[in-house]
Amino acid sequence: MKVMVADKIASDGIKKLKDSGFEVLSVWEEPKEKLPQLIKDCDALIVRSATKATKELMDAAPNLKVIGRAGVGLDNVDAAHAKTRNIKVVNTPGATSISVAELAVGLMFVVSRKIGFADRGTRKGEWPKKGCEGIEIHGKTVGIIGIGRIGRETAKRVKALGARAYYYDIVRPPANDEKELGIEFRDLDGLLAISDIVSIHVPMSPETKNLLSKDRIAKMKKGAILVNTSRGGIVDESALYEALKSGMLYGAGLDVFEQEPLKSSPLAELDCVVMTPHVGAQTAEGQKRAGVEVAELVIRELNALKK
Ligand code: NAD
Repeated sequence: MKVMVADKIASDGIKKLKDSGFEVLSVWEEPKEKLPQLIKDCDALIVRSATKATKELMDAAPNLKVIGRAGVGLDNVDAAHAKTRNIKVVNTPGATSISVAELAVGLMFVVSRKIGFADRGTRKGEWPKKGCEGIEIHGKTVGIIGIGRIGRETAKRVKALGARAYYYDIVRPPANDEKELGIEFRDLDGLLAISDIVSIHVPMSPETKNLLSKDRIAKMKKGAILVNTSRGGIVDESALYEALKSGMLYGAGLDVFEQEPLKSSPLAELDCVVMTPHVGAQTAEGQKRAGVEVAELVIRELNALKK
Protein backbone atom coordinates (compact mmCIF):
# COMPACT_ATOMS: atom_id res chain seq x y z
CA MET A 1 0.00 0.00 0.00
CA LYS A 2 1.11 3.54 -0.72
CA VAL A 3 1.09 6.53 1.64
CA MET A 4 1.37 10.07 0.34
CA VAL A 5 3.07 12.39 2.82
CA ALA A 6 1.98 15.84 1.64
CA ASP A 7 3.51 17.95 4.44
CA LYS A 8 6.87 17.34 6.04
CA ILE A 9 6.67 15.18 9.17
CA ALA A 10 9.43 13.88 11.46
CA SER A 11 11.83 11.50 9.70
CA ASP A 12 11.15 8.91 12.45
CA GLY A 13 7.51 8.85 11.28
CA ILE A 14 8.54 8.25 7.66
CA LYS A 15 10.89 5.49 8.84
CA LYS A 16 8.06 3.80 10.76
CA LEU A 17 5.89 3.77 7.62
CA LYS A 18 8.68 2.26 5.53
CA ASP A 19 9.67 -0.27 8.21
CA SER A 20 6.04 -1.42 8.29
CA GLY A 21 6.22 -2.23 4.60
CA PHE A 22 4.42 0.78 3.12
CA GLU A 23 5.60 2.65 0.07
CA VAL A 24 6.03 6.34 0.98
CA LEU A 25 5.52 9.11 -1.54
CA SER A 26 7.10 12.23 0.00
CA VAL A 27 5.72 15.20 -1.92
CA TRP A 28 5.95 18.15 0.47
CA GLU A 29 8.24 20.02 -1.89
CA GLU A 30 5.88 19.64 -4.85
CA PRO A 31 3.51 22.49 -5.75
CA LYS A 32 0.11 21.87 -4.12
CA GLU A 33 -1.69 21.94 -7.50
CA LYS A 34 0.19 18.78 -8.50
CA LEU A 35 -1.14 16.77 -5.54
CA PRO A 36 -4.36 15.51 -7.22
CA GLN A 37 -2.25 13.96 -9.94
CA LEU A 38 0.27 12.45 -7.50
CA ILE A 39 -2.28 10.99 -5.08
CA LYS A 40 -4.01 8.84 -7.75
CA ASP A 41 -2.94 5.38 -6.56
CA CYS A 42 -2.41 6.18 -2.86
CA ASP A 43 -4.17 4.38 0.00
CA ALA A 44 -3.42 6.98 2.67
CA LEU A 45 -2.64 10.68 2.92
CA ILE A 46 -0.70 12.40 5.69
CA VAL A 47 -0.96 16.18 6.17
CA ARG A 48 0.09 18.75 8.75
CA SER A 49 -1.32 22.25 8.11
CA ALA A 50 -0.16 23.40 4.68
CA THR A 51 -2.05 20.81 2.62
CA LYS A 52 -5.83 21.00 2.55
CA ALA A 53 -7.43 17.56 2.34
CA THR A 54 -10.30 18.78 0.17
CA LYS A 55 -13.07 16.89 -1.59
CA GLU A 56 -11.17 17.36 -4.87
CA LEU A 57 -7.96 15.89 -3.47
CA MET A 58 -9.78 12.92 -1.91
CA ASP A 59 -11.76 12.25 -5.09
CA ALA A 60 -8.55 12.19 -7.12
CA ALA A 61 -7.63 9.05 -5.14
CA PRO A 62 -10.23 6.29 -5.64
CA ASN A 63 -8.33 3.93 -3.27
CA LEU A 64 -7.92 6.45 -0.44
CA LYS A 65 -8.83 4.80 2.86
CA VAL A 66 -7.09 6.84 5.57
CA ILE A 67 -6.17 10.50 6.16
CA GLY A 68 -3.76 11.24 8.99
CA ARG A 69 -3.31 14.77 10.30
CA ALA A 70 -0.20 15.44 12.38
CA GLY A 71 -1.78 18.00 14.68
CA VAL A 72 -4.65 18.86 16.98
CA GLY A 73 -7.66 20.09 14.97
CA LEU A 74 -9.05 18.99 11.63
CA ASP A 75 -9.53 22.49 10.19
CA ASN A 76 -7.71 21.53 6.96
CA VAL A 77 -9.53 18.21 6.42
CA ASP A 78 -13.00 18.00 4.87
CA ALA A 79 -14.05 15.39 7.42
CA ALA A 80 -17.68 15.42 6.24
CA HIS A 81 -16.66 14.43 2.73
CA ALA A 82 -14.22 11.82 4.09
CA LYS A 83 -17.17 10.26 5.93
CA THR A 84 -19.24 9.98 2.75
CA ARG A 85 -16.30 8.22 1.09
CA ASN A 86 -15.76 5.97 4.15
CA ILE A 87 -12.25 7.38 4.55
CA LYS A 88 -11.03 7.11 8.15
CA VAL A 89 -9.59 10.36 9.54
CA VAL A 90 -7.08 10.23 12.39
CA ASN A 91 -5.09 12.95 14.16
CA THR A 92 -2.70 13.47 17.07
CA PRO A 93 -4.45 15.73 19.56
CA GLY A 94 -2.13 15.05 22.50
CA ALA A 95 1.26 15.20 20.79
CA THR A 96 1.87 18.89 21.36
CA SER A 97 0.00 19.53 24.63
CA ILE A 98 3.21 20.02 26.62
CA SER A 99 4.58 22.42 24.00
CA VAL A 100 1.45 24.60 24.14
CA ALA A 101 1.32 24.50 27.96
CA GLU A 102 4.97 25.56 28.13
CA LEU A 103 4.24 28.49 25.81
CA ALA A 104 1.25 29.50 27.94
CA VAL A 105 3.44 29.55 31.05
CA GLY A 106 6.21 31.26 29.08
CA LEU A 107 3.78 34.01 28.09
CA MET A 108 2.75 34.39 31.74
CA PHE A 109 6.41 35.05 32.62
CA VAL A 110 7.12 37.29 29.64
CA VAL A 111 4.12 39.47 30.50
CA SER A 112 4.49 39.44 34.30
CA ARG A 113 8.21 40.35 34.08
CA LYS A 114 7.77 42.77 31.12
CA ILE A 115 10.41 40.88 29.18
CA GLY A 116 9.27 42.14 25.75
CA PHE A 117 9.49 45.78 26.88
CA ALA A 118 12.79 45.17 28.66
CA ASP A 119 14.30 43.44 25.63
CA ARG A 120 13.26 46.18 23.19
CA GLY A 121 14.65 48.98 25.37
CA THR A 122 17.87 47.18 26.27
CA ARG A 123 18.63 46.50 22.60
CA LYS A 124 18.15 50.17 21.81
CA GLY A 125 20.64 51.15 24.58
CA GLU A 126 17.87 52.69 26.70
CA TRP A 127 18.57 50.56 29.82
CA PRO A 128 14.84 50.65 30.69
CA LYS A 129 15.29 49.30 34.24
CA LYS A 130 12.91 51.83 35.75
CA GLY A 131 9.87 50.64 33.81
CA CYS A 132 10.64 46.97 34.35
CA GLU A 133 9.25 46.21 37.80
CA GLY A 134 7.21 43.06 37.35
CA ILE A 135 5.14 40.71 39.46
CA GLU A 136 5.77 37.13 40.59
CA ILE A 137 3.62 34.17 39.59
CA HIS A 138 4.32 32.55 42.95
CA GLY A 139 1.39 32.98 45.32
CA LYS A 140 -0.98 34.16 42.58
CA THR A 141 -4.28 32.64 41.52
CA VAL A 142 -4.31 31.22 38.01
CA GLY A 143 -7.68 30.56 36.36
CA ILE A 144 -7.64 27.95 33.64
CA ILE A 145 -10.52 27.99 31.17
CA GLY A 146 -10.78 24.47 29.70
CA ILE A 147 -9.17 21.68 31.70
CA GLY A 148 -8.47 19.28 28.80
CA ARG A 149 -5.05 18.06 27.71
CA ILE A 150 -3.35 21.46 27.51
CA GLY A 151 -5.24 22.97 30.44
CA ARG A 152 -4.07 20.12 32.68
CA GLU A 153 -0.44 20.45 31.62
CA THR A 154 -0.70 24.18 32.31
CA ALA A 155 -2.22 23.53 35.73
CA LYS A 156 0.66 21.18 36.68
CA ARG A 157 3.20 23.82 35.70
CA VAL A 158 1.62 26.76 37.49
CA LYS A 159 1.18 24.64 40.63
CA ALA A 160 4.91 23.87 40.49
CA LEU A 161 5.54 27.63 40.48
CA GLY A 162 3.68 28.03 43.77
CA ALA A 163 0.47 29.46 42.31
CA ARG A 164 -3.09 28.40 43.18
CA ALA A 165 -4.95 26.85 40.24
CA TYR A 166 -8.70 27.08 39.64
CA TYR A 167 -10.55 26.05 36.51
CA TYR A 168 -13.77 26.37 34.57
CA ASP A 169 -14.94 23.72 32.08
CA ILE A 170 -18.31 22.50 30.80
CA VAL A 171 -17.21 19.00 31.80
CA ARG A 172 -16.12 18.42 35.39
CA PRO A 173 -13.23 15.92 35.60
CA PRO A 174 -13.49 13.18 38.23
CA ALA A 175 -12.90 14.42 41.79
CA ASN A 176 -9.77 12.33 41.92
CA ASP A 177 -8.26 14.27 38.99
CA GLU A 178 -9.07 17.54 40.71
CA LYS A 179 -7.33 16.28 43.82
CA GLU A 180 -4.29 14.99 41.95
CA LEU A 181 -3.87 18.21 39.98
CA GLY A 182 -4.65 20.36 43.01
CA ILE A 183 -7.28 22.35 41.14
CA GLU A 184 -10.71 23.63 42.13
CA PHE A 185 -13.78 24.37 40.00
CA ARG A 186 -15.36 27.82 39.72
CA ASP A 187 -18.08 29.00 37.36
CA LEU A 188 -16.71 31.28 34.65
CA ASP A 189 -17.65 34.59 36.25
CA GLY A 190 -16.38 33.36 39.62
CA LEU A 191 -13.11 32.27 38.04
CA LEU A 192 -12.60 35.62 36.30
CA ALA A 193 -13.28 37.49 39.53
CA ILE A 194 -10.56 35.70 41.52
CA SER A 195 -7.82 35.10 38.93
CA ASP A 196 -4.61 37.14 38.77
CA ILE A 197 -3.79 35.26 35.58
CA VAL A 198 -6.36 33.73 33.19
CA SER A 199 -5.17 31.15 30.66
CA ILE A 200 -7.55 29.95 27.93
CA HIS A 201 -7.52 26.33 26.70
CA VAL A 202 -10.93 25.67 25.11
CA PRO A 203 -11.48 24.77 21.45
CA MET A 204 -13.17 27.16 19.04
CA SER A 205 -16.89 26.39 18.79
CA PRO A 206 -20.13 28.37 18.54
CA GLU A 207 -20.23 28.25 22.37
CA THR A 208 -16.68 29.49 22.90
CA LYS A 209 -16.67 32.17 20.17
CA ASN A 210 -16.35 35.50 21.99
CA LEU A 211 -16.39 33.65 25.35
CA LEU A 212 -14.18 36.42 26.71
CA SER A 213 -16.59 39.12 25.52
CA LYS A 214 -16.45 42.77 26.56
CA ASP A 215 -18.76 42.00 29.50
CA ARG A 216 -16.67 39.04 30.63
CA ILE A 217 -13.41 40.96 30.35
CA ALA A 218 -15.00 43.63 32.55
CA LYS A 219 -15.54 40.91 35.16
CA MET A 220 -11.82 40.10 35.34
CA LYS A 221 -9.88 41.08 38.43
CA LYS A 222 -8.25 44.51 38.16
CA GLY A 223 -4.57 44.16 37.23
CA ALA A 224 -4.96 40.60 35.89
CA ILE A 225 -3.03 39.04 33.02
CA LEU A 226 -4.77 37.26 30.13
CA VAL A 227 -3.01 34.51 28.18
CA ASN A 228 -4.59 33.02 25.07
CA THR A 229 -2.95 30.08 23.31
CA SER A 230 -6.25 28.49 22.23
CA ARG A 231 -7.89 30.16 19.20
CA GLY A 232 -8.39 33.73 18.08
CA GLY A 233 -12.03 34.80 18.22
CA ILE A 234 -12.51 33.35 21.72
CA VAL A 235 -11.37 36.73 23.09
CA ASP A 236 -12.90 40.03 21.93
CA GLU A 237 -9.70 41.76 20.80
CA SER A 238 -11.14 45.30 20.75
CA ALA A 239 -12.48 44.92 24.29
CA LEU A 240 -9.14 43.46 25.38
CA TYR A 241 -7.33 46.44 23.85
CA GLU A 242 -9.56 48.88 25.76
CA ALA A 243 -9.08 47.00 29.04
CA LEU A 244 -5.29 47.01 28.60
CA LYS A 245 -5.06 50.60 27.41
CA SER A 246 -7.10 51.86 30.36
CA GLY A 247 -4.84 49.95 32.78
CA MET A 248 -7.73 47.74 33.96
CA LEU A 249 -5.66 44.70 32.95
CA TYR A 250 -1.90 44.35 33.59
CA GLY A 251 -1.02 42.69 30.30
CA ALA A 252 -1.75 39.96 27.79
CA GLY A 253 0.17 37.15 26.12
CA LEU A 254 -1.38 36.13 22.82
CA ASP A 255 -0.40 33.31 20.47
CA VAL A 256 -3.66 33.35 18.50
CA PHE A 257 -5.69 36.08 16.82
CA GLU A 258 -9.06 36.75 15.21
CA GLN A 259 -7.29 37.23 11.84
CA GLU A 260 -4.28 35.06 11.07
CA PRO A 261 -1.72 35.79 9.81
CA LEU A 262 -1.97 39.01 11.83
CA LYS A 263 -0.98 42.01 9.70
CA SER A 264 -1.68 44.85 12.10
CA SER A 265 -3.51 45.33 15.37
CA PRO A 266 -3.92 48.15 17.88
CA LEU A 267 -2.77 45.60 20.48
CA ALA A 268 0.71 45.84 18.95
CA GLU A 269 0.99 49.45 20.19
CA LEU A 270 0.87 48.32 23.81
CA ASP A 271 4.07 47.48 25.68
CA CYS A 272 2.13 45.24 28.09
CA VAL A 273 1.17 42.89 25.23
CA VAL A 274 3.35 40.05 23.99
CA MET A 275 2.42 38.42 20.70
CA THR A 276 3.62 35.24 19.03
CA PRO A 277 2.56 33.94 15.58
CA HIS A 278 0.51 30.83 16.56
CA VAL A 279 3.57 28.81 17.52
CA GLY A 280 2.20 26.94 20.55
CA ALA A 281 2.72 23.51 19.00
CA GLN A 282 5.89 24.45 17.18
CA THR A 283 8.66 22.65 19.06
CA ALA A 284 11.08 20.01 17.85
CA GLU A 285 9.74 17.54 20.42
CA GLY A 286 6.08 18.26 19.72
CA GLN A 287 6.48 17.93 15.97
CA LYS A 288 8.51 14.74 16.35
CA ARG A 289 5.81 13.23 18.57
CA ALA A 290 3.09 14.30 16.13
CA GLY A 291 4.97 12.81 13.14
CA VAL A 292 5.59 9.48 14.85
CA GLU A 293 2.05 9.27 16.27
CA VAL A 294 0.38 10.04 12.94
CA ALA A 295 2.51 7.40 11.21
CA GLU A 296 1.58 4.83 13.88
CA LEU A 297 -2.13 5.65 13.54
CA VAL A 298 -2.07 5.39 9.75
CA ILE A 299 -0.16 2.08 9.95
CA ARG A 300 -2.73 0.74 12.42
CA GLU A 301 -5.67 1.75 10.24
CA LEU A 302 -4.16 0.36 7.02
CA ASN A 303 -3.18 -2.90 8.70
CA ALA A 304 -6.69 -3.26 10.11
CA LEU A 305 -8.07 -2.95 6.58
CA LYS A 306 -5.78 -5.72 5.33
CA LYS A 307 -7.40 -8.18 7.75
P1 NAD B 1 -9.08 19.24 24.81
O1 NAD B 1 -10.21 18.82 23.96
O2 NAD B 1 -8.24 18.21 25.46
O3 NAD B 1 -9.61 20.23 25.97
C1 NAD B 1 -10.52 21.24 25.73
C2 NAD B 1 -11.35 21.43 26.99
O4 NAD B 1 -12.24 22.52 26.76
C3 NAD B 1 -12.22 20.21 27.35
O5 NAD B 1 -12.00 19.85 28.69
C4 NAD B 1 -13.63 20.68 27.09
O6 NAD B 1 -14.59 20.09 27.96
C5 NAD B 1 -13.50 22.17 27.32
N1 NAD B 1 -14.56 22.95 26.67
C6 NAD B 1 -15.08 22.77 25.43
N2 NAD B 1 -16.05 23.68 25.21
C7 NAD B 1 -16.15 24.42 26.32
C8 NAD B 1 -16.97 25.51 26.69
N3 NAD B 1 -17.90 25.99 25.87
N4 NAD B 1 -16.78 26.06 27.91
C9 NAD B 1 -15.85 25.55 28.76
N5 NAD B 1 -15.05 24.51 28.46
C10 NAD B 1 -15.20 23.96 27.26
O7 NAD B 1 -8.20 20.21 23.91
P2 NAD B 1 -6.64 20.58 24.11
O8 NAD B 1 -5.79 19.57 23.42
O9 NAD B 1 -6.39 20.90 25.53
O10 NAD B 1 -6.56 21.90 23.22
C11 NAD B 1 -7.29 23.07 23.57
C12 NAD B 1 -7.24 24.05 22.42
O11 NAD B 1 -5.92 24.57 22.29
C13 NAD B 1 -7.49 23.41 21.04
O12 NAD B 1 -8.82 23.26 20.77
C14 NAD B 1 -6.85 24.40 20.11
O13 NAD B 1 -7.79 25.38 19.76
C15 NAD B 1 -5.76 25.05 20.98
N6 NAD B 1 -4.41 24.71 20.48
C16 NAD B 1 -3.58 25.74 20.16
C17 NAD B 1 -2.30 25.47 19.71
C18 NAD B 1 -1.35 26.60 19.39
O14 NAD B 1 -0.48 26.40 18.56
N7 NAD B 1 -1.47 27.73 20.03
C19 NAD B 1 -1.88 24.15 19.54
C20 NAD B 1 -2.74 23.13 19.89
C21 NAD B 1 -4.01 23.41 20.37
